[in-house]
Amino acid sequence: MDGPRHTDNPCQGICGDARLVARAARPAGTVVDVRGVRIGGREVIVIAGPCAVENEEQLLATARAVKAAGASILRGGAFKPRTSPYSFRGLGHEGLRLLALARAETGLPVVTEVMDARQLDAVAACADILQVGSRNMQNFTLLDEVGRSRLPVLLKRGMSATLTEYLHAAEYVMAAGNDQVILCERGIRTFETSSRYTLDLNAVPMLQRETHLPVLVDPSHGTGHAWMVQRLACAAVAAGADGLLIEVHIDPARALSDGENSLTPEAFARMVEQVSAVAAAVGRCTP
Ligand code: PEP
Ligand code: MN
Repeated sequence: MDGPRHTDNPCQGICGDARLVARAARPAGTVVDVRGVRIGGREVIVIAGPCAVENEEQLLATARAVKAAGASILRGGAFKPRTSPYSFRGLGHEGLRLLALARAETGLPVVTEVMDARQLDAVAACADILQVGSRNMQNFTLLDEVGRSRLPVLLKRGMSATLTEYLHAAEYVMAAGNDQVILCERGIRTFETSSRYTLDLNAVPMLQRETHLPVLVDPSHGTGHAWMVQRLACAAVAAGADGLLIEVHIDPARALSDGENSLTPEAFARMVEQVSAVAAAVGRCTP
């Protein structure tokens, strides 16, 4: 791989003692196959959908639109981790039912967040990928539990986690027996307040050099501003990202969560077009 190594001693690189995630464990890299959608191969995969599942019409309309625009996987939160307990916290089990409906209707695989081990069976029954959110990146009992699942795990970077801490979280999942882990940079806390988080695109080449796991980027949460998403999505793909996680809402102004960073279906379609051009320019392609 290019660039000087992080340290002369590979044992003290960003992997620390996490050996299952280390690139040396699988030099050719990992491709996670989600019902035929290959994450970590030559194709740049786009995962899209609403922040939260709100109702049947909202989810199905969004699912159809993102599929038509080129998304390969549908996202949508049923269990939402919210800063305030008074904010919309998701439809819960009803949200899972609607995701299953959208999956059946569109054929798109589904990724949704599991916030607690007690939700795992219900989430696993309707999801193709289990998402562990930023706030739960170091919930070690949850990591153990998803590690025992046979479903792929999309593990988002903790907003205050170093890459070393992040990779040890991924190691938990692998050490419990699940080697289908997908990483996702989603922005970190810095002194900067103009955007919601600071999207750490350094993480993309660093993680890809030091680990064999696919690396996605989430510019929606990473910026917090819909108008920035397309540019950072392109930058992420230029930096080598294996895919994108994008929030899309049919009516962002009325969204029950994260409307500020949600793209309309039309803006999403434009974004996919530009991302495809960037992917081609860096020797990748889109499905
Ligand atoms: C999400 O993707 O739905 C989400 C809540 O993101 P994060 O965990 O990165 O904040
Ligand atoms: Mn969101």
